[in-house]
Formats: sequence, structure tokens, C-alpha cells
Amino acid sequence: MAAPHASIEVMNRQTCGARPGFGRVLAARWAVTAWGVIAMAAGPALAAPAQVRSVTTTLTADGVPGVRVSIDTPVTATAMSYATISPTIYLERCRGGCKVHQGPNDARTNTSTIPVTGSQHPGLDFTVGEFATSTGQVGTAANNDWTAVVTCMKEVYSPFGVTVTDARPTSGTYHEVIIAGRPQDIGLTSDILGVAPLSNDCSPIDDVMSFTFANNHTVADASDLTARRLSICWTAAQESAHAFGLDHEYSFVTGNAANGHSACNDPMTYRDDCGGEKFFRNEIANCGEVSSRECKCTKTQNSHQKLLTVFGAGTPITKPPSSRLASLASGGMLGNSVSVQAGAQRGVARVALYFNGFPWAEQLGVAFQSRGQPDPSSYNVAVPASLPNSIVDVKAIAYDDLGVATESTVVTVTKGAPCTSASTCAKGQKCEAGKCFWDPAVGEIGDSCSYAQFCKSGLCSGSGDDQLCSQNCTVDPTADSCPDGFACVASGTTTTSGTCQPSDNGGCCSAGGQDRRWWVHAGLAALVLGMVARRRRRR
Ligand SMILES: [Zn+2]
Repeated sequence: MAAPHASIEVMNRQTCGARPGFGRVLAARWAVTAWGVIAMAAGPALAAPAQVRSVTTTLTADGVPGVRVSIDTPVTATAMSYATISPTIYLERCRGGCKVHQGPNDARTNTSTIPVTGSQHPGLDFTVGEFATSTGQVGTAANNDWTAVVTCMKEVYSPFGVTVTDARPTSGTYHEVIIAGRPQDIGLTSDILGVAPLSNDCSPIDDVMSFTFANNHTVADASDLTARRLSICWTAAQESAHAFGLDHEYSFVTGNAANGHSACNDPMTYRDDCGGEKFFRNEIANCGEVSSRECKCTKTQNSHQKLLTVFGAGTPITKPPSSRLASLASGGMLGNSVSVQAGAQRGVARVALYFNGFPWAEQLGVAFQSRGQPDPSSYNVAVPASLPNSIVDVKAIAYDDLGVATESTVVTVTKGAPCTSASTCAKGQKCEAGKCFWDPAVGEIGDSCSYAQFCKSGLCSGSGDDQLCSQNCTVDPTADSCPDGFACVASGTTTTSGTCQPSDNGGCCSAGGQDRRWWVHAGLAALVLGMVARRRRRR
């Protein structure tokens, strides 16, 4: 394992600044940001405060911290402005060197706005060196590294309707990801790990090249091949996604709580306070490089959802979660907690404990470490005191962040003693054969209810006789996530999460009326923020 360094990856958000045309000298933009600035910036960050820790820096071949950059590019600087985005991502290792040309973007002819003409490169033609190992070997000797990077890219993009291949398509357009060479090959400064165009309106752009300077990637422990391969994949995923309109991510609004909501497990991040294979996360993120800021074109960004809108859905090829009850013996007694062993390639987002078919307890995924979340990790889930004495069928379900779930085998144990009547069971439960249980949920959204397990959503909201089956939702005036006839009403003092309530005025509970004011407030707040955002962007 690589030793942690007392410094952080050096990044500079100005690298995303406007680039009026191609062919300008870019070197001056890549100024260095010091550790002290990073620590300061992380203090008053939006949402959850970022945790600045000792981190493993991504080093360049010169041994200095490297940057992964995007270049603001007019949509008109592409051969295929607003064209349908090809569902093919082509990974190019540049066997024998790639001839690359400077000009309006057209991946089919290896032409890009990014190469910079200068004293080293007086013309419009450039040669990118072949993909090499950490010791500079190319060809067959680099095959294992290359295969690992290709596999990683296929896994990272597998939730989307896109094909990742290292065979150049013979027809149509495609996105070309150069994974080879060094930045100097195309006239860029030596601290750059990768670079890609990001359209000025964040629309995805077809038929462009992104550059991942594989041969500029080193890690502190040169023998750690996996770390270097994952670092190259991180750059390639980020740079390719810039061309699909994605900005850098700094922190999640609610996700990855165990890491202080760091976006360190998404390839769009600059952060390496956690490592391992990074995946596009289905999480609302604040953008930013070394601190939180509004995203380039929207207030926040969800990298997973944005790529879904570009490509549609695919089939994840990542290993599904594992889930095993580690502490229970069939026929034994149920104690105060249940030990679960769970892991997943993308990381476990949560582990839910089911008793007699219903969830009673849940634990969020443990922290990601330098190699991602340990697989498996131990979860010690507390048994709620409200669980009635009963014979109990126990199972644990582990979910990854995309909701892919794996159930453990069921183990039957007893809490206290078998029940003898429903009077000692929970509200709505029956007692049969010593077991307190609810019938399967039947309540649809809007049906009246008196306990949560009646509702298919598991949520019975309201009070007294005015309780309805509801579901959790995110307050977003521009995209209501509730079914027809329902609107997302903020709960309590939060303005971002709530429950679906009937959207007409007739018959809703008094609590809903109270909550609706919150919703209006949230809408106004979003509007004001939107105006601020628009004003800022003109700077
Ligand atoms: Zn970037």
C-alpha cells in the first residue's frame, strides 16, 4: 500500500475557464495551488464540511502532483455540433505512436482543438507516444496494464447504454479516448494527467477526442501496479465524461456519509481522500476542485443521471453485493445486534436487516479507504428494542449505490420467546405459530393507513385519522419525483427531502398544509439561487 503523503493533489479550478478559440498557449493557466489554500477552502465549504486528510497524491512522471483538466470549448468547435451522441467510446493506446492534428474536433481523423502549437511543435501535427508501463515498456509488455484499464473503463461505463471498446470503429462517429503518451506530446505542460473539451453549455459533444496521458501517471509505490492502473482509469473516465458535459464534483449532498460526503469515489472528483475504483455515483453533488462551488451549467450535478440522459441505461457488469449473516445460528436466540459481512465492487451503500419479511434496521456503508471500501466489511446492526418477542426469520440485504441488492440466506432464531397472541406483537401484526408478522404490504400511494408496513412504500405519513401511504422524495420544483396527483412536500426543517402528498387542496391533512409552506419557501429559495447562479456565470 502506498504511504500517505502530507500533501494533497494540487488542482486549479481556473483550468476550466473560458477558452475562446483553439491554438492559444495554455501553459499560464496551470498555476499551482498550495496545501494551505486547500485547507482553507475546505473549511467553509457548502453542505457537509470536507475532511482534509493525508492523501495519496497522483504524481506525474516528473514526480510532481498532476492535474486532470477540462477546457471550455464552444459547441461550434466540433465537426458534429449537437449531433446524436454515438454510443461508442473508443480507447486508443497509440501503438507505435498516434498522429494527432490540431483543428476543429473530429475523432475520426484524430483532430482536436486541444493540441498547442509552440516552439516544440511548430506545425499542426503531433505524435502521442504509445501506452507504456510504469517502467516505460510498450507493446506486449504493457498488455496487462492496458487490459486492466480497459476492463475498468468497461465497468465504470457499464450502467449506461454505451459500448467501450479498444477496437477502432470502422464507420460512424465515436468518442475517442487517447490513453497514452505525455502532455508534452501535444504541447501541454508536464503537470497535466488528462485533458478534454467540455462544451460551453455542458451539452454532450460527439466525435471528439479526450486525452489521458497514461505515461505521465505514477504512484508513490512504483510496485503498486493496481494503484497506477486505477489512477489512469480515473483520469480516462473523467476526461471522457467531460466531453459528455460533466463538471468536476467535490462533495455529495447526502451520499457517502462515512467519508464526510466526499465525492472521492466518483471519477469526476479531484479528491483522493479515498481511492479504489471510482464510479459515476447516483448522488446530487456540489461541483468543485479543491472546494465546493456551483456547477458550470446547473447548481448541482448527478454524474450517473447525467450520463443516463446521454446514453440511456445499460447493464452493470460490476460484481453485485455479497451479504452473509455472520453471528446467527439457526434455532438460536436473537441478541441485541446482528453481525453481517457485506461487500460490493462499487461499495455497499447500506445494509438492511429484515425480520419476518420486513426491514427493521439499517446501517449505511462503511467508509471508502485508499483502495475503496473493504470487501467484505463488517456491519454490526442493532436489533431495535421495539421488535416484539417472536420467532424471527432473519435476513440481511446489502445494496450497492445503484440499488443492486443481494439477500443473505435466512436464519430462523427466537427473540425472547415465541408469541402467543397478537396483543404482544407490533401494530398490525398477526401471531401465528409463535411468530409475529405482517401480511405483505398492499397499500398504494394515497391509500389511508395506520401503520407503515401496510404501505408498499413502507411509509405511512400524517397523524391521527389522516394518514396516507406516501413515499420519500427530493424537493425539486423543476422535476417532481412523485406520482401524478402528488407533489413532494418538504419534511420538518429540511428543504431538500420530503414526502409525496396529494397536490390538490381537497382533503389533505393539516400537517400537509403546514408543510406546504415549506415547499413554497424551498421553491423561492431555488429561484433566488438560480438568479445568483446566472449572474455569477457571466463573470
Ligand atoms: Zn477534469
